[in-house]
Amino acid sequence: MHETIPHWLTKQADLAPDKTAIELDNGHCLTFRQLKDQSQSFAKKLAQAGITKGTHVGILAKNEIPMVAAVHALSYLGAVGVLLNIRLTDEEINYQLKDAEVSLVLTSDHLKEGTEYFQAETIQSFSEIAALEESEVSLCNELDLDDTFTIIYTSGTTGFPKGVIHTYGNHWWSAIGSALNLGIHENDKWLVPLPIFHVSGLSTMIKSLIYGMQIFLLEKFDESIVHQAILHKGVTIVSVVTVMVQRLINKLGDNHYPESLRCLLLGGGPAPRPLLEKGKARNIPVFQSYGMTETASQIVTLSPKDALEKIGSAGKPLFPAQLKIEQTSKDDLVGEIHVKGPMVTKGYFKNEAANNKALKTGWLATGDLGYLDDEGFLFVVERRNDLIISGGENIYPSEIESVISGMDQVREVGVVGKKHETWGQVPIAFIVVDSQSISPRDILVYAEKRLAKYKLPKEIYFIDQLPKNASNKLVRTMLLKSLE
Ligand code: ATP
Ligand code: MG
Repeated sequence: MHETIPHWLTKQADLAPDKTAIELDNGHCLTFRQLKDQSQSFAKKLAQAGITKGTHVGILAKNEIPMVAAVHALSYLGAVGVLLNIRLTDEEINYQLKDAEVSLVLTSDHLKEGTEYFQAETIQSFSEIAALEESEVSLCNELDLDDTFTIIYTSGTTGFPKGVIHTYGNHWWSAIGSALNLGIHENDKWLVPLPIFHVSGLSTMIKSLIYGMQIFLLEKFDESIVHQAILHKGVTIVSVVTVMVQRLINKLGDNHYPESLRCLLLGGGPAPRPLLEKGKARNIPVFQSYGMTETASQIVTLSPKDALEKIGSAGKPLFPAQLKIEQTSKDDLVGEIHVKGPMVTKGYFKNEAANNKALKTGWLATGDLGYLDDEGFLFVVERRNDLIISGGENIYPSEIESVISGMDQVREVGVVGKKHETWGQVPIAFIVVDSQSISPRDILVYAEKRLAKYKLPKEIYFIDQLPKNASNKLVRTMLLKSLE
């Protein structure tokens, strides 16, 4: 039997019509009723443009209200949103459009100009759709939790991006799992500086409807704006990635954030321990989390009570989720992380090979390595592909990166395994420094005190920047290529 719930935006517009749903930095606010009206009107115009149940619609936009309304509009028609990263190249976007069978792309007015290279049947700006007449369609007043709502591609850090299908149920359970961990406070205002085209941003946009919670939406991360919003605009939760925490800590200096800030929810990738220690020293409530596109955002998160005690851990699985570590040998605590729960995708779009590899047991094999401590807290150590095996010893590049990034002069560091005749592989480091007054010797002296000898980088290269993908993630395979 299919489970249905009332349409979440219609429901919230009924429960809290005059409550602010979205606040922008320029002071512009939209209530839940206004958001519903705008989204429903947009849905009727999209119907005029030929969108019906099941149509795959690409969305190519920065965070802005027409984008939010467009995504909700799709849910009123039962259409599927394929959210595209605006930082992808034309070629990468075309790949996703074709792979996801997108027939119409909706884009921001100012992005429309550059879209002639995209291979979709039609490309329309939000304003072009807004100028259409509303058609007389009946809009969905229920959501079937098994229906597909969105497709988001993985970042492509380990290979070709894969189109992750998210049902309404995946998003619903993701929101419930987070609420059962962080709680819902009457005065919550969740700041979203991460793009809605990533699952982190999208999931907060959906939580806003389910919780009746205000979001403070930024077009993009700007540390001054975030800083001011925490200090003066009553922001209680901020979604962040590592580099944002780094910039906020620098901006804060020796000052403190007000108690109204109850959580910096940190996700998306590894967090160097020295950074977490710095946050702790300033009493900043950084909650590490672990998740991926496939889990519709975080699936493992530190809880408020453990945030400062279990530094370096990503926490425990959220209430509706389960986790297990598949060890390769009994003596090694570290193994591949497997997760299960109603927020986990049912599969990649038309990608049987990937589905068979990751999802065939009823659990999602994440491709990440980690271990549980004796109290069941997860420590994520590495992607399986990035593991370096040197003379039979496992070396985790992120451990070395975390240590070296603790040096004041070091801005960023990437470590990879290089083939070696005797040892099989040895770690080598690529470092971006803030000041030139540092030598490979200085780095080794610092690292020697903190790392076993076999983990010390055997070669050190200073480079201007690390190779990142459109999701701003380090692509380690590119580091080795840079030496060729
Ligand atoms: P692809 O699957 O295409 O290679 P990707 O895995 O980078 O790309 P995302 O879904 O955006 O795509 O990222 C999820 C990944 O980010 C996780 O599988 C994990 O490797 C990494 N990650 C997330 N949270 C953490 C964390 N707390 N610590 C370490 N790594 C993390
Ligand atoms: Mg992945």
